[in-house]
Amino acid sequence: MRDAPPAGGGASRDGSNRPGKAGGVAGAAGRMRTRLIHGVAHSTRWDYSHHVVPPLTSSATFRLDSARRAALGFQEFAHDGGLPHEHPPIYIYDRLEEPTTAMLEDNLAAAEGGEMALTFASGMAAISAAICTAAPAGAHLLAHPVLYGCTYSLICGWLPRFHVIYDLVDLTDLRAIEGAIRPETRVVYFETPVNPDMKLIDIRAVREVVDRANAGRPAGERIRIIVDNTFATPFCQRPLELGADVVCQSLTKGIGGFGTDLGGAVIGPRSAHDDLILFRKDFGGSLSPKSAWPPLVYGLPTLGARMANYQKTAMRVARFLDQHEKVERVHYPGLASFPQHELAQQQMRDFNGKFAPGSMLYFLVHDPEGEGRPAEKLIDWIAENAYSITLAVSLGQIKTLIEAPFSMTHAAMPAEEKRRRGLLPGGVRLSIGLEDWHDIIEDLDDALTRI
Ligand SMILES: *Cc1c(COP(=O)(O)O)cnc(C)c1O
Repeated sequence: MRDAPPAGGGASRDGSNRPGKAGGVAGAAGRMRTRLIHGVAHSTRWDYSHHVVPPLTSSATFRLDSARRAALGFQEFAHDGGLPHEHPPIYIYDRLEEPTTAMLEDNLAAAEGGEMALTFASGMAAISAAICTAAPAGAHLLAHPVLYGCTYSLICGWLPRFHVIYDLVDLTDLRAIEGAIRPETRVVYFETPVNPDMKLIDIRAVREVVDRANAGRPAGERIRIIVDNTFATPFCQRPLELGADVVCQSLTKGIGGFGTDLGGAVIGPRSAHDDLILFRKDFGGSLSPKSAWPPLVYGLPTLGARMANYQKTAMRVARFLDQHEKVERVHYPGLASFPQHELAQQQMRDFNGKFAPGSMLYFLVHDPEGEGRPAEKLIDWIAENAYSITLAVSLGQIKTLIEAPFSMTHAAMPAEEKRRRGLLPGGVRLSIGLEDWHDIIEDLDDALTRI
């Protein structure tokens, strides 16, 4: 009975992904890959049990029926940790809460293994809510120096205007974290893998350092670990299980998967819910139900199938690039030569416990002058001639996308700083899609012969 699902209906640890012989689909909820497709069968969000596909409701405002029911709705809003009530939900106004986004939230919470999720209008709306609800004026934030460009300018450009100060510290250096934590530190923020250089940050190790710093602090002064899990998606990594307090996602990327809509999410403990939903209400970054529906119906349900295929191709492309004479270095967690390969194998695991190095890779084109001209030529050739690879920012879509972070997504960071942190003009970021891998490699091969 090697395939029998463990008690409680979780996924089998041997990676077989086959249902147990005796019980059909494991447990009531099924394995995570199945759950991503079927979602929550019975939603407390509304009487939608009879829909096979979740409905797209679209109503800016909701009928309140009576003053008493309206008062109850206002009274409960942001006072319940997001828990369902005895009565059907009382929706008031789209910006506060509404059923299509709420169904997506339930499924995102399940995928990330969190107690609750809240969606936002974009990844940046989610990240700013996660940070601002954890770091009031006077607080100090620690972040890894290499970050998604807009997160970098949020932390370094905007937060200081609201008297939230920061230090950028290499979070792979645990001593440095210890040394940088102050009594006012409230947030440790990072991406892993880091956008774009694919460096990994050891979530468990950061947790240990933060636990030591939190010891003896009253609840309101504890440091929160916020992890941007956009690159890995919950398919490849669940930071909450590894010690993060809160996870942010750009739904625009791997979870959305088709590139049709912007969206973001914060997933974490119930204790974070009420502040986050109030922040969303008042700063206004609510996700439209029309933009929640594609990730709910197409994105999340196909995440497992897409990621399984992205990864196979990513491994082939990484090996091809790794052996190419015009490529200096390839950063892909799946390669044995990846400097943090061991950590990758510990922390990047799919729902069945199988190694899941993801769909993103970063490589440096051989660039003797250090000005990035060969990378620029490569990208221009691809933009003009390649069929299977598109020059565009964003990632995690069914189409393979290429870009040069130094001059594009990470333009907000000063050039000197980028160079100091190992982000060079010759760096190229590749987001693998669902095309036939032969075509992707042929396009890259052609482009490399022309530089
Ligand atoms: C794109 C991205 C974001 C921002 O998401 P938007 O949906 O574009 O606002 C944040 N973090 C990472 C790692 C990203 O790639």
